[in-house]
Amino acid sequence: MNRVALLGSTGSIGTQTLQVVRHLRDVVEVVALTAGQNARLLSQQLAEFRPRLYHSLVPEQVDCGDTHLATPEEIATDDRIDTVIVATEGRAGLRPTLAALTHGKRVALANKEVLVMAGNLVREAAQCTGAAIMPIDSEHSAIWQCLNGETTTAEQVLLTASGGPFYDCSNERLSNVTAAEALAHPIWAMGSKITIDSATLMNKGLEVIEAHWLFDVPYEKIQVLIHPECIVHSMVEFIDGSVKAQLSSPDMTLAIQYALTYPERLRALTQPLAWDAVRTLTFLPVDTDRFACLRLARDAGRAGRTYPAVLCGADEEAVDLFLAGAIRLPDIANLVDRALQAHNPADATSLEAIIAADDWARDYVKRHCSSPNNRLADSRGTT
Ligand code: MG
Repeated sequence: MNRVALLGSTGSIGTQTLQVVRHLRDVVEVVALTAGQNARLLSQQLAEFRPRLYHSLVPEQVDCGDTHLATPEEIATDDRIDTVIVATEGRAGLRPTLAALTHGKRVALANKEVLVMAGNLVREAAQCTGAAIMPIDSEHSAIWQCLNGETTTAEQVLLTASGGPFYDCSNERLSNVTAAEALAHPIWAMGSKITIDSATLMNKGLEVIEAHWLFDVPYEKIQVLIHPECIVHSMVEFIDGSVKAQLSSPDMTLAIQYALTYPERLRALTQPLAWDAVRTLTFLPVDTDRFACLRLARDAGRAGRTYPAVLCGADEEAVDLFLAGAIRLPDIANLVDRALQAHNPADATSLEAIIAADDWARDYVKRHCSSPNNRLADSRGTT
């Protein structure tokens, strides 16, 4: 029995994880659930799964039955828990992930910012206790599956990207994309932040940094390919030129299940590939002039220190502004770029330094988007 804590149970990955748990009742037991503001859904989940512990940002609104309230860090280090599933968003997963790894717990990680912002701290904590990090993301799960059983390191990691809805659009078209158009992802149904990140390819940039930390691959050995069919979830090339790929229908529950049952494989909820329908698998290079976020993320990853935290903070703030209709889609990359240029970096050797950089970047984007002398403000005034 794998006894799990699910942090972020009411989000997109959280609710899909609970689908997997329903399917795997005999092998997975939910010991704790945490959520942010969604008290109604959390109350339903507590009634269904009856865990021992919960956390909510609005506990007074939660119908908790006989489940006890605890902090995310208390939950992440509780003796009754084997695996902490981190399905929170933004920096909310940082402290609980580090606490879990420091206590030797397995961490199934879906929260991108944890590795992007604090990759070195996370790796240090995992190395200290020997705790394993299992990726919950279709691409990193694919790389992990390709590397399992290999004794040599990867010569090259080929990270695939759906390209989002606009991968073949002109610059002019990109400038006029509305939030509703950008939220309509052709393949994956996800939260709004990650859907916009998919449209700008920032999501892929964050995944490049994650792959670097998860698999200890240098940045120059990580290549991104646009693969609109989303059937090949990523590939690994070895020194002899052999390439291994992991293929499946695009469905996150498979990556979630593999992280929970590893090294075993069990029948999944995902529909097997219909081979009579899969006719073409396309792979295209990325134009990083049009999709500057990918280049910015790679550069921030390489520069290290607090640059990746600035990348995350600036992007989150800029995505919010785009969703609110305050800026255009290409302005997200512009604002992130300017924040990175203006940043005075520090060593990312403490959570405090990382969080301070993230705060600074959010504030920078807010200030430079609303300034009357600002290029973005001017362009908004004329449209
Ligand atoms: Mg992904």
